[in-house]
Amino acid sequence: MLVYIGLGGNLGDPVAQIREGLGGLKQLSRSRVVRRSSLYRSAPIGPQNQPDFVNAVACLDTELAPQDLLAALQAVETRQGRVRRALRWGPRTLDLDILLYGDLRMAEPLLTIPHPRMAERAFVLLPLREIATGIVVPGAGKVDDLIDRLPPQAVHRLPGE
Ligand code: ATP
Ligand code: CA
Ligand code: CA
Repeated sequence: MLVYIGLGGNLGDPVAQIREGLGGLKQLSRSRVVRRSSLYRSAPIGPQNQPDFVNAVACLDTELAPQDLLAALQAVETRQGRVRRALRWGPRTLDLDILLYGDLRMAEPLLTIPHPRMAERAFVLLPLREIATGIVVPGAGKVDDLIDRLPPQAVHRLPGE
């Protein structure tokens, strides 16, 4: 199954955190990293009094079921020093979201796929388009159309990353 994972982080050295997160993805069981986007810098959503984020998207070929994949991603986050706090959208060393899992659609209390907020996030859609031209987000539409409809958001590709 081809899945797309969104990576983000804004604490410590976020570029190093994302690189390390990609390293964590490479070590997931029954999975292989097929592609990864450039790194992007974005202004925080939610609380503004926190550092900019660095984001990327990776494509994995995995045999893990969605819930097992989520658990494995959360283990990588924790290993990389993520502390879960009450503050929604607060700062973190590493955030790994399941964006797409093939063309699966599911909504469970702990796991919704496609990721419910991805269609409105430039820091997700721009790196996704980079590695998956023409991809369709089930229930939302083509990535290019979604990007065309985005309100302006400060997201910049980091040169050389
Ligand atoms: P957002 O989901 O808006 O990007 P966030 O990434 O900061 O916010 P977290 O605190 O990392 O949110 O995650 C909260 C919960 O979201 C997780 O414990 C997980 O159960 C749930 N969740 C639901 N759908 C997904 C998904 N597609 N990928 C990752 N987590 C998900
Ligand atoms: Ca997230
Ligand atoms: Ca998350």
